[in-house]
Amino acid sequence: MSGGYRPDGLSRISFEFSTGVGRIGIRLNREIEPLAEYQHSMELVGRVRVQSAVRAFAFDAVIFPVAPAVMATVMAVVFLSLGHIETTQAQTGAGRLRRDADALADSVRIARAAGTELRIEVAGVDDAVRLAMLQRWAEEAARATVVDGRFPLREARVWINEIDSRDRSPVPWGQTSRRGLPSVLLYVRRGASYEELRADWTAVHEFSHLFHPYLDDEGRWMAEGLASYFQNVLRAQMGVLDADEAWRRLDAGFRRGETARSEGRLDAVSRDRGGTMRVYWAGAAYWLEMDLALRHAHDSSLIEVLGRYAHCCLDGNAYVAPSDWVVELDRIVGASVFLPAYRRYAAMQRFPSLDASYRALGIERADAGLRFSDRGEGAALRAAIMGKLEKAASR
Ligand SMILES: [Zn+2]
Repeated sequence: MSGGYRPDGLSRISFEFSTGVGRIGIRLNREIEPLAEYQHSMELVGRVRVQSAVRAFAFDAVIFPVAPAVMATVMAVVFLSLGHIETTQAQTGAGRLRRDADALADSVRIARAAGTELRIEVAGVDDAVRLAMLQRWAEEAARATVVDGRFPLREARVWINEIDSRDRSPVPWGQTSRRGLPSVLLYVRRGASYEELRADWTAVHEFSHLFHPYLDDEGRWMAEGLASYFQNVLRAQMGVLDADEAWRRLDAGFRRGETARSEGRLDAVSRDRGGTMRVYWAGAAYWLEMDLALRHAHDSSLIEVLGRYAHCCLDGNAYVAPSDWVVELDRIVGASVFLPAYRRYAAMQRFPSLDASYRALGIERADAGLRFSDRGEGAALRAAIMGKLEKAASR
């Protein structure tokens, strides 16, 4: 599959994929946030063009509002077409087949962790040094999710494709797919350096989604909240984000959620921009509160509980009702922690208060940022959450 990408106006981008079965073009409108929180703000999809040997037909510039679920479906179609291309190419002759097999061998790297594995595939990059760099970057980001030596899922895949982009972001697009082998799809700007990629949050955000089952719209705030919380926490633990900076970024997200114009219950919030900001960051506030509760009274932590859930019970493809999921998490903790707060948050009409969490953490809001108390329990708690951890790399 080859992917093309071109900016089309200030906030509109187009993807066009050539596959063995024809062309699939996707146009997205997206709002560009200061911190590039764009994935779920897009509203347009268009252009489906299918060509076959018999006839070609096109739906061109069909533009309609699209929910992320539809977007996910379109991306899944692109995913699925990959298998088709390999088959098509395999039929075109032995020489071609051998060349493809060689290219495939180089472009796939398997990262292993205590019986779990992540298949890292890179498409369309011939330069061996760059290929290895992209694989190393993806593996490093994925290893941020290792708990008890394991990745969250027994088997998952990350698929990296380079695109031409004038976007400032080194990873203009990321997506999790749950069709077949659970996969993380990452589009990397051609020429983005290792340092730029390492400093970006998208990959860790997407890998964090592999900790939870599919939660559907009702649990969108939990899914996006978890990934938004972990994109800061896990990157601090990796050492790519300074601890204080991680708290500041989390706080900046909370502030965007607080000022978002959005009404109604959190579990029924709309997908407009205000709704999206509230869903992501009210969700992140929930997981912060849970992490603090687990550390304070249960001698545990959020990632430890999610790791145990992943080990015993997680099916990366399955739908689990959010209320059933939190009951499972409580069973693992052996106490009622997640469910009561889940009920409270799901019904919230406004952004949650952070007062209790910030007090526990020794964080005070100042006009332009945060003040950190450097004494007592708060400082220790902050260090326990955002402190750097050593996680072994694969051989
Ligand atoms: Zn997400």
